[in-house]
Amino acid sequence: MKLDQIKGIPIIDVAKLLGICVKNNKSRCPLGTHEDKIPSFSIKEDTNTWKCFGCNEGGSNIDLVAKVLNIGFNEAVEWLMCSYNMDSSKLKRKAVKGSNVQQKKLFYRTETYDIQSAFYPKGSDNDIYEKLLELCPITKKGTDYLEKRGFSAELIKNARIGELEAPKETWAKLITLYGVKRLLNCGIAKKKDNKATLVWWDRSILFPFLYQEKVVYIQGRRFNHTKGPKYINLSGLSKPMYNSEVLKKIKIRSKVLILEGVPDTLAAIGNGYNAVGILGVGSFRDSWISLFADYNIIIVFDMDEAGKKGASKLTTLFSKGGKIVRVAKLNEGQDLEEYLRSKKRRHNATK
Ligand SMILES: [Zn+2]
Repeated sequence: MKLDQIKGIPIIDVAKLLGICVKNNKSRCPLGTHEDKIPSFSIKEDTNTWKCFGCNEGGSNIDLVAKVLNIGFNEAVEWLMCSYNMDSSKLKRKAVKGSNVQQKKLFYRTETYDIQSAFYPKGSDNDIYEKLLELCPITKKGTDYLEKRGFSAELIKNARIGELEAPKETWAKLITLYGVKRLLNCGIAKKKDNKATLVWWDRSILFPFLYQEKVVYIQGRRFNHTKGPKYINLSGLSKPMYNSEVLKKIKIRSKVLILEGVPDTLAAIGNGYNAVGILGVGSFRDSWISLFADYNIIIVFDMDEAGKKGASKLTTLFSKGGKIVRVAKLNEGQDLEEYLRSKKRRHNATK
């Protein structure tokens, strides 16, 4: 049943989504109805409930949403379904007059899905993406290519990288399993001259995007890109951030690198950094800035003209959102891998 499914969403995740700063399962009361110098709000993960010892409020994850956003139970259910991609129906905007608190709450209600889009796009179809990766394990050719870029076998395995060798055969298998409509809906197929085809047409490395251990997006990188684009994204879906889930797992004030594209991000992860990758500055949404609020951010883009432009655009976006970020200065001609290693050495030396 849907309601059980909703009640199963980890309350800690819901709390974070609501912007509650939870540390060791405790926080100051988010309801704003009383003073709270000692954190009175606590979360119980085993029962998936919360309680505030200051005001005696408490309950399920749905109750938490209802209380914090000051909305009814049914609306809270709808909010959660929408935030967790359980339903395609959009949240209804409601005219809110009055205090700033209410304005802020309206912001959360309407913007939360927008924030979730950093983790997975609407239309994402986990079953199909998993099947595609199952049909397309990485070959020696792909492994050689990635290892040349400095990726370890462990990193390749953990990132669950695949390789599309035979697009036609793969396409035929997918159609039999899922039908054209579903393949179009999840962006793995597109229409060309009124005929549906797989978005990748030649040999490509497949980079899966993972969220809660599920594949929620895939980007392909073509081996032979002398003609046409190097990277091919899913058709019609918004682009999430690569490895964005790390932002939910690390400690406050941790250092996080923002890189452009999946390979550079993987290189940073392989060197032990907390890193997220964006698929072009144009895909970065203003609302995502809130995800970075608690961390030390360093933008590490290529130092070519496009990279410099992108980094400056992103810095401006962040500063408009009230967040100061740094831009890494790579020396002229220094490549990313070199930079990451030199920084890591220095970092270890000063420990
Ligand atoms: Zn309270």
